[in-house]
Amino acid sequence: MKGEDPRLGEAKTLPMADVVARLELAGLVRTGAELVGPCPQCGGKDRFGINLQTGIFQCRKDCGPHAKGDQVALVQHTLGMDFRGALEWLCGPAEGLTDAEREERRRKAAENRRRQDGIAQKRREDSIRVARDIWFAAGPAEGTAVRDYLTRRGISPELFRTMPQSIRFDPVARYTIPAEGRAGAWETIHTGPAMICAVVDPAGRVTAVHRTWLDLSQPKGKLLLPDPRKPCEILPAKKVLGSKKGGAIRLGFAPSCDTMIMAEGVETTLSAMIAEPAPQASAYWCGVDLGNMAGRMQRGPGLKYAGLPDMDDSEAWLPPEWVKRLVFVQDGDSDPKLTTAKLKAGLRRAMIKRPGLRGSIVHAGEGRDLNDILMGQRDEG
Ligand SMILES: [Zn+2]
Repeated sequence: MKGEDPRLGEAKTLPMADVVARLELAGLVRTGAELVGPCPQCGGKDRFGINLQTGIFQCRKDCGPHAKGDQVALVQHTLGMDFRGALEWLCGPAEGLTDAEREERRRKAAENRRRQDGIAQKRREDSIRVARDIWFAAGPAEGTAVRDYLTRRGISPELFRTMPQSIRFDPVARYTIPAEGRAGAWETIHTGPAMICAVVDPAGRVTAVHRTWLDLSQPKGKLLLPDPRKPCEILPAKKVLGSKKGGAIRLGFAPSCDTMIMAEGVETTLSAMIAEPAPQASAYWCGVDLGNMAGRMQRGPGLKYAGLPDMDDSEAWLPPEWVKRLVFVQDGDSDPKLTTAKLKAGLRRAMIKRPGLRGSIVHAGEGRDLNDILMGQRDEG
């Protein structure tokens, strides 16, 4: 029998957790989708990670940038074997297989793949359901801490009179982190007021919630929550739950307009909205994060900053058909070159998919975002 070694396909569909168990890797702790702990080659405490969802491991320290990869690579890395040896350790010897045994291996591989696709799909549906429960349980934002928070951020009631339907308030939003040492379990480390924004898919269905935990005693109005796992670090005050890919937070509509302004953050999008003299002329949507605005980009040597969209990404965000002009607002951040590349990729995708559409990027200024500017104005005034 000629053709590709069927053990390759089989190895790639072995659940990473099973491979880890067989390798008896010690000291790994479940953190979200990752197992984190010491590297079997260079030691340490938490430099080594295995993502159980993507099936990729990586040593972030001494073993170098090549110490990452799939199931076979993990066996090579852990046991110091070559590729052939690792494949044999995982799937048995190649020689002497009968046609029936090869067929059995193919069947097993296909079955593994189907099972893992099913698990991923179920996880996605579960998270969407939880997100929708949170959204529908939340109440109107007007007259709550959300209004005070936005005012604190320079989005004052005089300029921003009507609270969008896509923003709600939850007085008792639970902040959870992966429970230490218990796979798939979560523990609540804070319960308190939060701004809840609906991320909706192209059909208008809520598929995720974007939550910002509030603490009005802080200068920026956001919660400063120390990470119980790393006492010197502060956890992000914002989290997204559900499936955000391809979705957006629709903050401002304008009937019969053909221009859309989109920024990464809710506050930045609202800042752009109230900065415009005639806000009724455009739609203001928040893109949730840069990755979502960009979609998948083409990868390869020299392509990191090229900003070329991977048009095979069928789930990437696209503006609705009525958009003729799409403006992305670029915030100031730590890696402006990569940010620009991502925004360009998103605009190029939109221009390819919507012939006639014009795309452009506006900058809020070096190292600042629009909301900083707005807050500065308020402080100065
Ligand atoms: Zn290492």
